[in-house]
Amino acid sequence: MKNIDTFNFSNRKVLVRVDFNVPLNDKFEITDPTRIDAAIPTIKKILSGGGAAILMSHLGRPKNGPEEKFSLKHVVPYLSKKLGVDVKFADDCIGDTAKELAVGLRPGDVLLLENLRYYKEETKGDVEFARKLSEPGDVYMNDAFGTAHRAHASTAIIAQFFPEDKLFGYIMQNEVKNIDKVIHNTQKPFTAILGGAKVSGKIEIINNLLDKVDNLLIGGGMMFTFIKAFGGNVGNSLIEDDLVEMARSIAEKAKQMGVNLYIPTDTVIANDFSNDADHKESDVNTIPDGWMGLDIGTETVRKFTVIIENSKTILWNGPMGVFEMENFATGTKAIAEAIAMATENGAFSLIGGGDSVAAINKYGLKEKVSYVSTGGGAMLEYIEGKELPGVKAIKE
Ligand code: AMP
Repeated sequence: MKNIDTFNFSNRKVLVRVDFNVPLNDKFEITDPTRIDAAIPTIKKILSGGGAAILMSHLGRPKNGPEEKFSLKHVVPYLSKKLGVDVKFADDCIGDTAKELAVGLRPGDVLLLENLRYYKEETKGDVEFARKLSEPGDVYMNDAFGTAHRAHASTAIIAQFFPEDKLFGYIMQNEVKNIDKVIHNTQKPFTAILGGAKVSGKIEIINNLLDKVDNLLIGGGMMFTFIKAFGGNVGNSLIEDDLVEMARSIAEKAKQMGVNLYIPTDTVIANDFSNDADHKESDVNTIPDGWMGLDIGTETVRKFTVIIENSKTILWNGPMGVFEMENFATGTKAIAEAIAMATENGAFSLIGGGDSVAAINKYGLKEKVSYVSTGGGAMLEYIEGKELPGVKAIKE
């Protein structure tokens, strides 16, 4: 496989699939440029190597073709400033304008193409559309990890038109390297911490982790389906009744495989789903009717902290409670801090999934964990053991 650090970009036009799917306000100003910032090292590498970059991305979910609020032209001023280059813009991602602008590119130039999803063919993975997209480039690079689990025209299908000249950008390279560290070259003990709202979205990941981890810690709304499975009274807590049986079989499987499955023993309960609700600590098995568990309790935090601090590899996905509400954020914050502490003592920690990333950022711990994955869905699918189309297209 070609490597960005050693690839010869000189006089080549590199078509890069980036993830510039950034939030815009009503004035079309970028409210969080994290995704653009993350791609800057990749783009600069191409430019400093004597190449030109043609950038393509999606933005939002346009339903029927072009719409002002989904135009990537809103990104041009910020990108130009970040790169110190006057970024050119093609108002259509395929066709003559894009081709003509691409022909005029000199080493060091950057061209941004209009939103790929103005065409339905993009998400359908249409081959002819991918061929048209491929036309202006000599090299194809994928640096959009967030969409690597989709077989879209620009993320996977297009790679066939560059059999010799395709590679990962830095974001993709780092994501794959760091996730591989957790699932393939694991230092033991390996602890996975799973939280968030529901078990349903995480069954496959739990199943795939059982033959890898030593400890599996469960928190968040999903804990109550397990507690119910063991016969506890969960009151009005979040429950997926159709998964109670599944929770039981996961626990059974964990036992057979020698995995320590830890379900919280205490919880913070509230009489309403609101930060202002009355709240108190409770045993997880005796939650009164009318009350719901919204965070893990003090004893659980203490136990989880000890396990985390004795781990060498840590994977965290999903908050321990409703951390958006101050009164139910204690568990999530404590777990984030324990992970930071373990990392300081030499553990490798990988954080992924929208809400755990938000929590790590909220508590200012981003620099204190080993790696924060940018692609929630893509990371989970990779850990589940699925081959990501965007990764496969470059590797094969
Ligand atoms: P997910 O997208 O599945 O990772 O779920 C994240 C969401 O789970 C966050 O918005 C949390 O507020 C929510 N959550 C965490 N714990 C609970 C709980 N005990 N009850 C209800 N929602 C929760």
